[in-house]
Amino acid sequence: MASSHTVLMRLVASAYSIAQKAGTIVRCVIAEGDLGIVQKTSATDLQTKADRLVQMSICSSLARKFPKLTIIGEEDLPPGEVDQELIEDGQWEEILKQPCPSQYSAIKEEDLVVWVDPLDGTKEYTEGLLDNVTVLIGIAYEGKAIAGIINQPYYNYQNNEKEKLREHGNEAQAGPDAVLGRTIWGVLGLGAFGFQLKEAPAGKHIITTTRSHSNKLVTDCISAMNPDTVLRVGGAGNKIIQLIEGKASAYVFASPGCKKWDTCAPEVILHAVGGKLTDIHGNALQYNKEVKHMNSAGVLAALRNYEYYASHVPESVKSALIP
Ligand code: AMP
Ligand code: MG
Ligand code: MG
Repeated sequence: MASSHTVLMRLVASAYSIAQKAGTIVRCVIAEGDLGIVQKTSATDLQTKADRLVQMSICSSLARKFPKLTIIGEEDLPPGEVDQELIEDGQWEEILKQPCPSQYSAIKEEDLVVWVDPLDGTKEYTEGLLDNVTVLIGIAYEGKAIAGIINQPYYNYQNNEKEKLREHGNEAQAGPDAVLGRTIWGVLGLGAFGFQLKEAPAGKHIITTTRSHSNKLVTDCISAMNPDTVLRVGGAGNKIIQLIEGKASAYVFASPGCKKWDTCAPEVILHAVGGKLTDIHGNALQYNKEVKHMNSAGVLAALRNYEYYASHVPESVKSALIP
């Protein structure tokens, strides 16, 4: 019997389960202890066994169920058979109970482009900053990011560590039931789920930016925004989570380096709750399959007061960043 659900909602429901499996793989690689680190373009551009296994898992699992999709993953991997153990066949039924926004109900599989960052924040992953890490699956239609899934494998990690400390007589911040890992998902026109939306403190400019890929353009741009606080953390997914959970008021990255697979899923989650993500000039990012991968003109995002940050980008920074 043909499914009564739309292609988009079936894809999102499957991608949710696939992202959860990805989170399990990310934790397993750490537990096994051999990260298998490879340098890509530089010492701050790394790939680990987790990046490789998760990309194989996500791309093969999606391609089996949705053979006509265009899937673009970050890692360059040799073609070959993927271990059956890496394949996830499930779909999260709760998502299938949600209505598909009417503008997307007639979308065909071959019209969708999926951008996969198997592990965002790899540099931080190799340094043990595990709560910076996310798995990103972004879905685009007609060049626009319309659905996204973010798994954060080590959500509650520090809290769990604190809990362990409490057992040894130190202070605790999370209850004993804190579960490791979570999955956030969203579809434009439907909303974003799996977290509690929170506003950043009013009147404060708390800017989140790169920890491992900074340069003078990045710092010049942030200085011009009169920041009260600058948070330097890893991962594009992680920084968008900071925006939707009220920990930061803007994500500012005035530099090339971030790619389409970094921004696609996070952009959807932010847009679904009323925020805005663009390049540093204010241009919307495009996600059609032919687009160049690099976000050459950087990233600027905020849940509220986007205009304040956009209006404070110095002309010298703009002229150095060609889209
Ligand atoms: P960051 O904020 O430094 O964690 O960067 C967000 C995403 O963009 C991560 O996936 C980084 O790997 C990527 N990225 C940013 N800048 C660079 C760079 N200069 N070289 C390689 N990857 C970068
Ligand atoms: Mg990334
Ligand atoms: Mg990555």
